[in-house]
Amino acid sequence: MDRDLSATTRQRRGLLIVLSSPSGAGKSTISRMLLEADAEVTMSVSATTRPARPGEREDVDYHFVSDGEFDRLIETGEFVEWAPVFDYRYGTPKAPVKAALKAGRDILFDIDWQGTQQLHAAMGEDLVRIFILPPSMEELERRLRFRGTDSEEVIAFRMQRAAGEISHWAEYDYVLINRSTEDCLLQVQAIVAAERLKRQRQVGLVAFVRDLVASR
Ligand code: 5GP
Repeated sequence: MDRDLSATTRQRRGLLIVLSSPSGAGKSTISRMLLEADAEVTMSVSATTRPARPGEREDVDYHFVSDGEFDRLIETGEFVEWAPVFDYRYGTPKAPVKAALKAGRDILFDIDWQGTQQLHAAMGEDLVRIFILPPSMEELERRLRFRGTDSEEVIAFRMQRAAGEISHWAEYDYVLINRSTEDCLLQVQAIVAAERLKRQRQVGLVAFVRDLVASR
């Protein structure tokens, strides 16, 4: 029987996947569906000074912390990135990112453009940046309204901010237009599949090719 040497190729560096978009462009739904469909991807849980919204769970949606605790986390260097967004601060804990990379697991980040820039500076090659655009501003507003969670005032504010967030689209590796959730999810999955196969991420490849050539 042929000797299968491919076990070594299963080793790979984990991928850091950033999904950014203006709120209402469908990012949360796509993140949730990707996590459900792909056991190798875990979600990065950020720390925030924002109070929890109804239904949000501590340590699942966010680590909800006080201003003082957030200051301490900055001072002790526990964030890989942090930024002010709206009236609050948000930060990505460093330790889980390092652990996942080492274990060859992928991490998904729902962070804004400021955090993406910092993460890119810190992690470089390991990062895959995806930006999701709405098909039109009218559709974005319709989706924000449809959620039914925000007042008219908040919707107007989010629409105002959306243009600012969209202006950073060119800082991303991939830009998707979310016309349908299903199509957009398939596109994200295609990106993840291709990125995993990049030569530099397949750390077992050198050994595999060496054994492959030596096996005859
Ligand atoms: P929300 O308060 O609606 O959950 O999030 C507001 C914004 O903060 C979103 O655009 C989200 O992507 C961003 N955000 C969430 N966590 C982080 C983080 O750890 N770092 C940065 N830079 N942005 C974050």
